[in-house]
Amino acid sequence: MESRYNPAEIEEKWQKDWAEQGLYKTSEDPSKPKFYALSMFPYPSGNLHMGHVRVYTIVDVIARIRRMQGYRVLNPMGWDAFGLPAENAAIERGIHPARWTYQNIDQMRQQLNQLGISFDWEREVTTCSPDYYRWTQWIFLQFFQAGLAYQKEATVNWDPIDQTVLANEQVDSEGRSWRSGAKVERKQLRQWFLKITDYADQLLTDLDQLSGWPEKVRLMQANWIGKSTGAQVTFTTEAGDEIIVFTTRPDTLWGATFMVLSPEHPLVEKLTTKKQAKAIKAYQEAAAAKSDIDRTAEGREKTGVWTGSYAINPVNEAKIPIWIADYVLMDYGTGAIMAVPAHDQRDFEFARRFNLPIQAVVQPAGETLDGATMTAAHPGDGVMVNSGPLDGIPAGKEKGQSVEAAIQWLEKHGKGKGTANYRLRDWLISRQRYWGTPIPIIHCPQCGAVPVPETDLPVRLPEDVEFSGRGASPLAKLASWMNVPCPTCGTAARRETDTMDTFIDSSWYFLRYPDAKNEQQVFDPEKTNRWMPVDQYVGGIEHAILHLLYSRFFTKVLRDRGLLNCDEPFQRLLTQGMVQGKTYKNPRTGKYVIPANIPDFANPTDPETGEPLEVVYEKMSKSKYNGVAPGDVVNKYGADTARMFILFKAPPEKDLEWDEADVEGQFRFLNRVWRLVTEFGDQRSGIGDEKSSALHTPHSALSKDEKDLRRAIHIAIKEVTDDLQGDYQFNTAVSELMKLSNALTDAACKNSAVYAEGIRTLLILLAPFAPHITEELWHNLGYRHSIHTQPWPAVDPEALVADEITLVIQVMGKTRGTIQVPASADKAALEQYARESEIARRHIDGKEIKKVIVVPGKLVNFVLG
Ligand SMILES: [Zn+2]
Repeated sequence: MESRYNPAEIEEKWQKDWAEQGLYKTSEDPSKPKFYALSMFPYPSGNLHMGHVRVYTIVDVIARIRRMQGYRVLNPMGWDAFGLPAENAAIERGIHPARWTYQNIDQMRQQLNQLGISFDWEREVTTCSPDYYRWTQWIFLQFFQAGLAYQKEATVNWDPIDQTVLANEQVDSEGRSWRSGAKVERKQLRQWFLKITDYADQLLTDLDQLSGWPEKVRLMQANWIGKSTGAQVTFTTEAGDEIIVFTTRPDTLWGATFMVLSPEHPLVEKLTTKKQAKAIKAYQEAAAAKSDIDRTAEGREKTGVWTGSYAINPVNEAKIPIWIADYVLMDYGTGAIMAVPAHDQRDFEFARRFNLPIQAVVQPAGETLDGATMTAAHPGDGVMVNSGPLDGIPAGKEKGQSVEAAIQWLEKHGKGKGTANYRLRDWLISRQRYWGTPIPIIHCPQCGAVPVPETDLPVRLPEDVEFSGRGASPLAKLASWMNVPCPTCGTAARRETDTMDTFIDSSWYFLRYPDAKNEQQVFDPEKTNRWMPVDQYVGGIEHAILHLLYSRFFTKVLRDRGLLNCDEPFQRLLTQGMVQGKTYKNPRTGKYVIPANIPDFANPTDPETGEPLEVVYEKMSKSKYNGVAPGDVVNKYGADTARMFILFKAPPEKDLEWDEADVEGQFRFLNRVWRLVTEFGDQRSGIGDEKSSALHTPHSALSKDEKDLRRAIHIAIKEVTDDLQGDYQFNTAVSELMKLSNALTDAACKNSAVYAEGIRTLLILLAPFAPHITEELWHNLGYRHSIHTQPWPAVDPEALVADEITLVIQVMGKTRGTIQVPASADKAALEQYARESEIARRHIDGKEIKKVIVVPGKLVNFVLG
């Protein structure tokens, strides 16, 4: 028998063997309960990093355990393969995006296989492949038919470097592109949107169903949707036009002394008087050049222009001036606000700047606010004043009844109604880029936007395009592709040249895995419904908002189209922590130092200046010289050690500090297991089939040593099983495995059947964590079937019962020692054992015992006189 643990040799051997026998092919056995384990699929950048290794290892352990526990498990993998980097590679290096992408996929698939991940590769999906994006297009047409996909002229964020439109969330807080870092400009373009706002309320209320999600993520989603309740109120202009505003404080309507419209509001032109026209036009142009973030930044000096017109305040018939100001955004609320300067700080600053009247309508207790002398708005509580029917009512958004009373009054008088408003905007999905799913629409001068007939899908990306990186999308420059007859009337028409946001591709990929090769349908609803919802989803917190929200939205729309039975796609969600590497930084210059240049790690100094270096753990990155390549670790220690380290070092949701010494610790542990099992195997030959080696001796007939060992075995089974339910405490599970290996090393009954049970159990419990070494040792013991097809061991409750317990003896509350007593002893017996003990005799020494306190199973305390 091979005596040295050689991971390189056994890992490759078993990976090949598993692939050949199709060990991880998904079972569709209907008699088994289902378990859908899902990792967020990666962008094929070409290289697996430690963050990837962590996610896929976590999901793999979960999938392996569930299989052993008798579930049919779906554990698929795919590629989120459209996107800008591939197109940038084309521009920079002249390599076609498709070639670059597929090369990267091949490389990463191989790297994943080296980790021993049990993916079912037969279900692999690649979003840039026509057999996938055909169905992305089909889903888009479902949205289009449902009235959930529409075009509208929109002010968009324009990245002048990448020459593309960015979503709001791709612009950072300084108004720069998340990718190129360029200062984002504003531009008007006709764009495609998905109407996610139609589902805002469901997306919010259904968060309550997601008890298996981190509270933090649910909160982030709720804040993103941003529901606020209040009223819609209709103001009328002198010319008779209606201006609708949304307000969360309709109770302060009597204090509205002017209105402010967004510069883009459609009524502005009509409202602007001749005298004001020039000033208004100039202001509109200036506003168009600013980003939303600039426009709404707090503390910014207020600017605005009066239109020259007035509106009538519907509650008191007051004539109030209508202004425009850039802090009001057209795509938030209705693009118009009523201004209540006494009770809103932004309106207050605006009123002071332009000498507009301020009317207090909420008086705080013990004060008399006067608009003329106020120095700041009073947004807080108080009592309603100067408000006609509301006077005297307690006011305030939270505690007061004034908002409710105001809504009732508005509804009764037909001047408004109670309603909710959402921060969530419709989803802008148009991208003026090549490497994405073409939007399957043809623009006909007669018929308008005509969907490409389903039988003509996919609309394929043409291959012979030029990548300059400048100007419009490469698709818009390809006349042969763009010019087509209208499918309805035959008139010469043009294809839509925009492609879809890649977040669309990833909003439904998990629905394709259950039926990944279907060429007739997006998926067979029966097949997909047999697997949905996903039981455990694992991925990064950076996807806590958009990807998860969009996937939830798609699930609800496809449910409403009759394709899905579930309301929510992901039952449980685990957001894994980061993998951090050790960095060496000069605290004065802020420069990172390459570790190889540091002369002495015990006392690290800057090789250039000699100054002492700061040592901290930070997210792995090239610029910090703290990355560890997964391939290097696998080559040095093997995949099993890498997996063990990642699982052991930190709970999955916490950040993990990469530490070479701890990696070696896991390597040593696996070597111990190797020796333990190999020695055992050498002493007995031919254990035979796994089924025949069950323990036949009744538990009660075992010796004390055997009972002790058997207890250790079954405690390990219980603890590891518990750790892998629900919250997945892999780190404590690995600790339990180490304890069991120690108990086996120390066991005094190595010839017993119990010892054999222990060795077998250790291997089976360890198998999901370290799949290669356990498979090798299992076969070395003579078993013929894969360890990964073995049933998960069950806890024998009888084995857990301890024969003896440790009893603490206290005198006057002070612990004096412990004794071993039978576990079955009752209160009286425990007192008797304690009284007769050497410890009691020594510490009581003839003194009078006034009282004895017995805590069963734990301690006996003597109170002396
Ligand atoms: Zn037509």
